[in-house]
Amino acid sequence: MTTSTAEPPTTDLSLQQSLQGAVKRCAAAGLRMSHQRRLVLELLWKEREHLSARDIFEKINAQEKRSIGQTSVYQNLETLQKFGIIECLERSGGRLYSYRTDSHSHLICSATGRIQDLDVQLPDDLLADIELRTGCRITSFTMQLVGAPLQEPPKPANP
Ligand SMILES: [Zn+2]
Repeated sequence: MTTSTAEPPTTDLSLQQSLQGAVKRCAAAGLRMSHQRRLVLELLWKEREHLSARDIFEKINAQEKRSIGQTSVYQNLETLQKFGIIECLERSGGRLYSYRTDSHSHLICSATGRIQDLDVQLPDDLLADIELRTGCRITSFTMQLVGAPLQEPPKPANP
């Protein structure tokens, strides 16, 4: 594999994927770690799903005794994604947020719409072939795969 120069400052994958790593990256970006901001990060790292701002707001308020304002949650998500601390996917139904910002692929379930993170490696000879054909050095890639459940859910019996 070739080494990339376009990597984010922290190349340690486990640190990039850890909550502690996210807190450190916030500090490095000069972002204050407010109570609300920490709650947003903790929720994303606990859920490890791609969630809408509304989902995140509702989940935080379901677990907290003291309610957190919707605007505060939305503003924190915007700030965190702007500084590359969290992932933001633009979907037709709106933005989805998740905890990973390293290069990864997605599998979208056509039945449920759920998006799973995938770590896919492309064979070196395929990457070399693409580089040869395009004249472009591949530094990262993201694939979007769409799939349906292998087994159909049982159909309801006819009345
Ligand atoms: Zn993702």
